[in-house]
Amino acid sequence: MRHHATTGEPARVLIVEDEPNILELLTASLELSGFATRGAPEARAALLAADAFTPDIAVVDVTLPGRSGLELVGDLRGVVPELPVLFLTARDTVQDRLAGFRAGADDYVTKPFSLEEVVFRLRAILRRSGRAGQAGEGTARSEPLRYADLELDEDAHQVRRAGRPVRLSPTEFALLRYLLLNAGRVVSKSQILDRVWSGQADDTRIVETYVSYLRRKVDAAGPPLIQTVRGVGYSLRLAEEERR
Ligand code: CA
Repeated sequence: MRHHATTGEPARVLIVEDEPNILELLTASLELSGFATRGAPEARAALLAADAFTPDIAVVDVTLPGRSGLELVGDLRGVVPELPVLFLTARDTVQDRLAGFRAGADDYVTKPFSLEEVVFRLRAILRRSGRAGQAGEGTARSEPLRYADLELDEDAHQVRRAGRPVRLSPTEFALLRYLLLNAGRVVSKSQILDRVWSGQADDTRIVETYVSYLRRKVDAAGPPLIQTVRGVGYSLRLAEEERR
């Protein structure tokens, strides 16, 4: 499979998802991001597609009719050895995630997901596994993440607000990246804890602390972008009055 890394062909993504709307949305958005895709609505079709399409990576919904996404992974790797897998899961509990990783997930996103996050995680897995085709951004620069006048450049590890550099610690950078990947959506403190601290911390008060650090640096130079959604979490977006 490594040949894609050198030929610069688009990385090939097999999408296994039984909800037609989500399959369509993922297909359109991954194609637009430069991936080649093939979709399958359930396990049997997925195995046939894996054989014909030889994907570089698979996006697999955990909840499929018949054979579950968790069970499917082993079968897929029987067809394409060591195939990296990104799970889509609606069940955001530690137990389900552990089950997912035992089944061999390389990463996962929780529904409802942002398309930016799916693309970001696919590229990260492809880079790690040395399968980066063009869409995997193997050597090419990736586009900075942007919202309003805020910009985060992953490659240069730089953040700018209204063109001015903002100096962030590595944890603040990771937190801002997660908020930017989910811009306009609400993310809970436990989701943030899970994705930014990767299970290295279990008290959501650390999230509150770092959000306050980040606000001091990012929101000092313009209208506030990091909103508190009471009882739920945070959202990176302009306040209603700023959007009018
Ligand atoms: Ca499903």
